[in-house]
Amino acid sequence: MKTRKFTRRQVIATTSAGMLGTMISWPLSSIGSGSYAKVKLAINGGEKVHPGSWPNWPVWDQSAEPGIIEMLRSGRWWRGSGEHVEEFEKRYAELMSAKRCVATASGTTALITALGVLGVDAGDEVLVSPYTFIATYNAIFYHKALPVFVDSDPETFLLDPKKIEARITDRTSAILPVHIYGLPADMDSINKIAKNHKLKVVEDACQAWLSEYRGKRTGTLGDLGCFSFQNSKHLPAGEGGAILGNDDDIMDHCHSAHNCGRPYGNMKVTPGYPLRGGNFRMQQSQALILLSQMKRIEKDNDIRLSNALYLDKKLKDIPGIVPYKLADGATRAVYHLYPFRYIKEKFNNIPKEKFINALVAEGIPATGGYGQQNKDGLFEEAFNSRGYKRLFSESRLKKWREENHLPGNDQLCNEAVTFYQSILLGSKKDMDDIVNAITKIYENKDSLT
Ligand SMILES: *Cc1c(COP(=O)(O)O)cnc(C)c1O
Repeated sequence: MKTRKFTRRQVIATTSAGMLGTMISWPLSSIGSGSYAKVKLAINGGEKVHPGSWPNWPVWDQSAEPGIIEMLRSGRWWRGSGEHVEEFEKRYAELMSAKRCVATASGTTALITALGVLGVDAGDEVLVSPYTFIATYNAIFYHKALPVFVDSDPETFLLDPKKIEARITDRTSAILPVHIYGLPADMDSINKIAKNHKLKVVEDACQAWLSEYRGKRTGTLGDLGCFSFQNSKHLPAGEGGAILGNDDDIMDHCHSAHNCGRPYGNMKVTPGYPLRGGNFRMQQSQALILLSQMKRIEKDNDIRLSNALYLDKKLKDIPGIVPYKLADGATRAVYHLYPFRYIKEKFNNIPKEKFINALVAEGIPATGGYGQQNKDGLFEEAFNSRGYKRLFSESRLKKWREENHLPGNDQLCNEAVTFYQSILLGSKKDMDDIVNAITKIYENKDSLT
């Protein structure tokens, strides 16, 4: 047997007996043929593996409504005149086992505040993953610092700690690892390098609520950790964010910086405002939504994890499908997206986009992950600005361009396929449909040209 064939019997055996009824919608002629071959792909006009719907996101809990109406009628809409933002900060710090929390307007403003308080300044360099949402770089650019990429490990989807040291210069002031998709980065290795070179570490945990590294929550392992509560996230409030930290002085400064630079806590008293700051405050309405959404996140994460582990087990047996690998020390992932790699050589060299289109046609929503953002226009736009030309020499920018070859990340961008988190809130039968749809495409790849 050269390539592994999936018999219809094998696939049914992996699913519950109750699923048999749903399989009947497939052409009966295929039963007994021993294979998915000769079942028409949905993209070619055949029946979908998953004709039904998927869980919606976000999910509203009506029991939160009286509290929100009361807050609206009171006119106490901002954090200065009400208690809800402070209550959220306290509860979120507890949930995440962090000493302190500062709630912010968004994940982006949390990152901007954290980097600024830890001293990232104009002309500095910040080491960062090339596989992330664009907001990670925007936070660095906000401080007129240079994002310096550390190549991705395509197996883990994360920054490769072995490649950090080669990118450190005398201008480097911080490392900004991203726990992308809720997959924890190898924080021990990152923190060790940071300590040796006197660098600060800000964790971009904007997709990593309650994921764990050596049993500890991501976002509590560096100097500061940043979170997003934008509508698509596991803890949604339309917009919102948070900074977690365990150092009182640093957290006092975060509070101050997010609140126009007003003094806070035990900060040294100076006349007027001691710090430059912004207005990055969270609103009362956001906090009330978050306090309500917090009631479901642990249960939701358990469902996502159990379905993800099930997919890991089933998908790895399909030729050309390689699920993510957890980094050293990662003990729990939370799957803002569920990622795997599609190796097109095992699929007759059918491009990833065609594979995704075929999967979507079967009723399985899938996307291709992040593109090669190290080639996005914002980098040259920044480097050609008056400010960056003043701050960075021509030879420094030339070196940046020469080093901007990221083979690991290029491979990852070419191969990644992802399912959005709410897909993982589906039933076991939904997960079987995902496995069956990919198997069906594999077995019928000859009809996909
Ligand atoms: C969502 C997100 C952000 C930014 O958060 P906003 O709340 O949208 O500002 C930053 N980094 C990553 C990895 C994200 O997913």
